[in-house]
Amino acid sequence: MEAFYRDTWAEIDLSAIEYNIAQMQKQLPRHTGIYAVVKADAYGHGDVQVARQALHAGAKRLAVSLLDEAIKLRDAGITAPILVMGWTRPEDLPVACENDIEVTVFQKEWIDQVKETSFNKPLKLHMKWDTGMGRIGIRNIKEMDALLSVIKASPLLELQALFTHFATADEEDLTYYQEQTERFNDMYEHFKRVWPHPVEIHTGNSAASQRFPEHMHHFVRFGISMYGLYPSPVVKKERPIDLRPSFSLKSQLIHVKKVEPNESISYGATYQTEEEEWIGTIPIGYADGWVRKLQGMDVLVDGKRHPIVGRICMDQCMIKLDREYSVGTRVTLIGKQDNEIIHTDELADYLETINYEIPCMISYRVPRMYF
Ligand code: PLP
Repeated sequence: MEAFYRDTWAEIDLSAIEYNIAQMQKQLPRHTGIYAVVKADAYGHGDVQVARQALHAGAKRLAVSLLDEAIKLRDAGITAPILVMGWTRPEDLPVACENDIEVTVFQKEWIDQVKETSFNKPLKLHMKWDTGMGRIGIRNIKEMDALLSVIKASPLLELQALFTHFATADEEDLTYYQEQTERFNDMYEHFKRVWPHPVEIHTGNSAASQRFPEHMHHFVRFGISMYGLYPSPVVKKERPIDLRPSFSLKSQLIHVKKVEPNESISYGATYQTEEEEWIGTIPIGYADGWVRKLQGMDVLVDGKRHPIVGRICMDQCMIKLDREYSVGTRVTLIGKQDNEIIHTDELADYLETINYEIPCMISYRVPRMYF
């Protein structure tokens, strides 16, 4: 752990990551392995640390979005297979190949450019099928045939896997999930007729893999639930597997004062004290990802909820305390303190977003501590 000199930090519970992987693996058929999805700095948890822990816990492979993310893991000495699930520029593929990084294929123009590239060993490809997400991927068998004919003719291109991504696997109404599954199966029927070589298949994200483990193929791509969060309120209610949150956010009071009635707090003077109030200052602001919309949200001090009052500044914000506390008193912004808890899901509700966004938005300025 690098030294840091500020009073706000995130705590990442690596044993929770291990626990969540074990819960997922228990639910899956024996032949189905886990890709730990560690894109976006492991959803804000720290990619190298989470990747190492996930592999230790039994995940077989890693998935990221960008070539840069994959190279960072390689540079840290991680040797497990890594897939880049997003688009990689054709001219950057020699770098992917040198670093033994697998990439996603879905465009004819892309593969036409790639087939002219000389690699020093075969480049491993995962073909993405867009069965209804509408983001990236081939959408029909004509596009599939066009890609396969190039791969077949190129000894340095190796088709390792097929994959797709579900748009609604976390919802109550599963009609669209089933439609995507059917489209995948139809495309796969054609694929089997034209491609005699074995390939791997991975379709499920956290929602599909915990709700329909028996539908999964060789691997699942396990993201949000590896971090201990359910992908949606529907899945949370069903609770197909038990999960332990791994991210908490802590700070300390750096200033405490008694304020007279009718005094203002913070920019815009939007908050006025009604009576004599104890006001605490904590060193976290919107530059840390603690966005201004969190004005009014609670934090925990002394195991009790206290509201954020006045506008959140770039580096600091103020809370209304129920009594005097000393400088250095612990403040929990996400997580448990005594018998009270502020769950990431509560913050997501407050900000009218999804829990995925919460750890991702806590910026690089907040050091991550691992235990
Ligand atoms: N697969 C792909 C292609 C993704 O983009 C993601 C994340 O959004 C995942 C898997 C992991 O999804 P989740 O975090 O819902 O498990």
